[in-house]
Amino acid sequence: MAEFDYDLFVIGAGSGGVRASRIAAGHGARAAVAEEFRVGGTCVIRGCVPKKLLVYASQFAEELHDTAKLGWTIGQKSFDWAALRDFVASDVDRLERAYTSTLDNNKVDHFHERATIAGPNTVRLASGREISAKYILVAVGAWPVMPEFPGNEHAITSNEVFHLENFPKRVVIQGAGYIALEFAGIFNALGAHVTVVNRSDKILRSYDESLTDRLLTMMRARGVEFRFNAPIESIIKQSDGSLCVNTKGFLPIEADAVLVATGRKPKTPGLGLENAGIELGPNGQIPVDEYNATSCPSIYAVGDVTDRVQLTPVAIREGHAFADTVFGGKPRTIAYDHIPSAVFSQPPLAGVGLTEAAARAAGHDIKIYTSDFRPMKNMFATRAERGFYKLIVDTATDKVIGVHMIGPDAPEILQAVAIAVKAGLTKADFDDTVALHPSMAEELVLMR
Ligand code: NDP
Repeated sequence: MAEFDYDLFVIGAGSGGVRASRIAAGHGARAAVAEEFRVGGTCVIRGCVPKKLLVYASQFAEELHDTAKLGWTIGQKSFDWAALRDFVASDVDRLERAYTSTLDNNKVDHFHERATIAGPNTVRLASGREISAKYILVAVGAWPVMPEFPGNEHAITSNEVFHLENFPKRVVIQGAGYIALEFAGIFNALGAHVTVVNRSDKILRSYDESLTDRLLTMMRARGVEFRFNAPIESIIKQSDGSLCVNTKGFLPIEADAVLVATGRKPKTPGLGLENAGIELGPNGQIPVDEYNATSCPSIYAVGDVTDRVQLTPVAIREGHAFADTVFGGKPRTIAYDHIPSAVFSQPPLAGVGLTEAAARAAGHDIKIYTSDFRPMKNMFATRAERGFYKLIVDTATDKVIGVHMIGPDAPEILQAVAIAVKAGLTKADFDDTVALHPSMAEELVLMR
């Protein structure tokens, strides 16, 4: 008789949990995972994947408009929100089935109910059943933060935005981070009037200011309104069903939908971590060491619940490293420097390494190279929008320690150049690389 029901019990079948359980099973562990909502987690079910489909769909508005100048005649155009929403939902269903098959193919048992921690080696399912495991991995992710103000029950978060019954013609979005600006771009391109309201006068705090300034100008030129230092004070539902949004210092705004995107918090409430003696960090996160171990030797945590870097590829790497460490006999950690990231705003921006401000704050003596150019695609379309690329070079070593870009396909290009930054290549290496012409990416090797 085995001492425990499983070698590994994972709570949460999102990016980190699915990767960890399948790799652990591959190392020979008897693994199980519990999921209270849908297999796939935030990224697949109500995050990166459906969001990207909406971005693609909304960009057709611009492409269809441009075709006329390029010789195409397109018939009457119209947009059907319900058709797009239902297509996205069906694609999410497909992916959920694929993730479930991954668990099955790797012989990972799955329980479709909430699980909480009952003790260092015990989880309790919502049905009341208790299951023992040699190790428990918490990978429950994070949850949208909803600020307190009267009428906040009329606002939605990124959890609900994919399921709107009707297309909102007037949208107010609170926050100026990833989710706010990505959805501002989507709704604006699909024809809604969008007003972004934020509590400070900054957008996308962690990105290089040259890029965020440029993004703000371009989003405004595309018709998105911004109100800064204007947190929502109340939302009043009116008799015709519309919403009246009151923000500090400005006139009220009429809206059909209010999306709140003010950050995400680790989803630890009610998880029973106290039953294993685990104390939460100030943001409700589970503190872990570099091997994803908590203060309880049998319990580990990966992904957004640890509040390190809230990005899917990071959670996947943490889950993989955990499984290799605990079940594969290959202890390993992951590197948190040089993580590339992107915002799928319209236009998109992306960056890797240090921003100019961060490089200066860290005491680097730096040289800045920039390229401010009009992408060929925009030229054809007689669109004034310009791209902007920026290299941060450490003067002492000549190493490129940061690359930041805004413009068409910036995330696609950035992923490739992130390899060069991670590898520690120098500005001379960039200069030695022959340009690929005509492309936007060639700007990266032409900055002098
Ligand atoms: P972000 O942290 O990106 O932005 C939060 C925004 O909300 C900021 O503008 C912030 O203002 C504001 N804010 C924070 N707290 C409050 C509050 N209490 N009241 C009013 N405003 C507030 O969060 P998101 O929700 O947009 O995204 C959550 C995370 O999800 C991101 O950090 C990212 O890691 C991940 N994500 C990644 C994506 C990608 O990789 N493309 C896409 C979507 C999400 P201020 O800055 O002025 O303080």
